[in-house]
Amino acid sequence: MSIATVYSRAQTGMDAPLVSVEVHLSNGLPNFSIVGLPETAVRESKDRVRAAIINSNFEFPARRIIVNLAPAELPKQGGRFDLPIALGLLVASKQLNENVTHGYEFLGELSLSGELRKTIGILPAAHACQCIGSKLITSSENKKELIPISHHSYFYASHLLDVCAHLNNIKKLVTDPVVHVEQRDLTPPLMSDVYGQQHAKRALCIAAAGQHHVLMIGSPGSGKSMLASRFPSLLSPLNDSEMLETCSVYSIANVSGQQRHPQSRPFRAPHHTVSVMGLAGGGSNPKPGEISLAHNGVLFLDEFTEFNRSALEILREPIETGVITISRAAAQIEFPAHFQLIAAMNPCSQGCDIDEYGQCECSSEQLRRYHNKISAPLLDRIDLQVNVPKLPSHLLFNKEESQKENWQQIQTRINTARNIQIKRQQKLNGLLAGNELQKICSLSKETQTKFINMLDKLNISARAFHRILKVARTIADLEQSTTVNKQHLTEALSYRQFDRLLKS
Ligand SMILES: [Zn+2]
Repeated sequence: MSIATVYSRAQTGMDAPLVSVEVHLSNGLPNFSIVGLPETAVRESKDRVRAAIINSNFEFPARRIIVNLAPAELPKQGGRFDLPIALGLLVASKQLNENVTHGYEFLGELSLSGELRKTIGILPAAHACQCIGSKLITSSENKKELIPISHHSYFYASHLLDVCAHLNNIKKLVTDPVVHVEQRDLTPPLMSDVYGQQHAKRALCIAAAGQHHVLMIGSPGSGKSMLASRFPSLLSPLNDSEMLETCSVYSIANVSGQQRHPQSRPFRAPHHTVSVMGLAGGGSNPKPGEISLAHNGVLFLDEFTEFNRSALEILREPIETGVITISRAAAQIEFPAHFQLIAAMNPCSQGCDIDEYGQCECSSEQLRRYHNKISAPLLDRIDLQVNVPKLPSHLLFNKEESQKENWQQIQTRINTARNIQIKRQQKLNGLLAGNELQKICSLSKETQTKFINMLDKLNISARAFHRILKVARTIADLEQSTTVNKQHLTEALSYRQFDRLLKS
């Protein structure tokens, strides 16, 4: 029989569907064609496979060769099918035994000399392969990316000949999954490095405890970026399933995660000139954007008002749903984008210094024009708005104040508050839906009346009501209080100052 089937995986969005690579040899004029919706890189596979087979001292069959990549409707990209095509050819031409590839899946691009190269998006493919109990053979260059699932073993090879030697039981490939990861990278910069700014630090602690989005408003040089970069230190490391998701996004985006410890929460800070596609993801072979690279971590947008308005509006969908949908003619692709937004902006276009109430000397017309750069629906989705005034220089070096804070204690309080929420409602307060909120944050009649009076007096919209309630619930959880009282609500209200500025 001169037909062979070898298995591999394609990649669409976050999925890695199974692909069977069928190779058929027949008599006739020597010819080599690949069918099954292959893109350019896959079509070029013919030349790479031919050279790799010849340079590995095998014989390239001088017959009519048809390679079918099934299912046909699935788009096939990249050089990942080189290895399975080459092995299929070797089986079909009886240079390899028919049954040696059973139970295996193969992924890898071949060089002209037969060396195996890295596959982009290996992690979801390896995970899918493991789920159905198949064994995976791939390039040694992919080893580091498979750390999140390194408790399973995969076979790593550097050359087509190594793969053949393994399949023929001549020399087995190593499965050694243990890759040394440097622990030092797990510790992000600490919040205790920042002196002063108690108000902002408190808001960030609440944000960390309940997964709320934050907007910091402060003059240039007031320490907004420093505070934001220290925010991940308040969050716990990724658990196993979060790590797999986040690392899969990095694997597909082909962004080197080497600077990141696989368990640390991502921190992405795209520049304000980032394009809509750079932020949201996309392209002809859709790749994840910054918001997906920040999945399970922090998206820091400095100079918030300078971002392209349409880019910012894209954030609204993922803030609500945790996913971003990219529409293509052929299909809709979803990437996860469950991030925590930390935004920062100057108080006005002139970058004035602000007083403790967040006011500067600009005219109300100038301020209105500046504030209008952010849409109200987007602002509505940001739970905590906090002023970060510039510190007087004598405080900048005042270590004493900051040494009074016991960050270990604060961290324990944050972790306890998060555990309380997970136990009570299986999610953090920031993710509560409207109907759940009413059940979980029910107020006493008296508190409710006072609260509504307060909202009226401060001219805060009813739309912001839910956000304030969620934040108040987190403040109560930080104190391990079962009920939400007036004090919690008052503090939560104090973080909506920008709403009032917008209306003034
Ligand atoms: Zn100003």
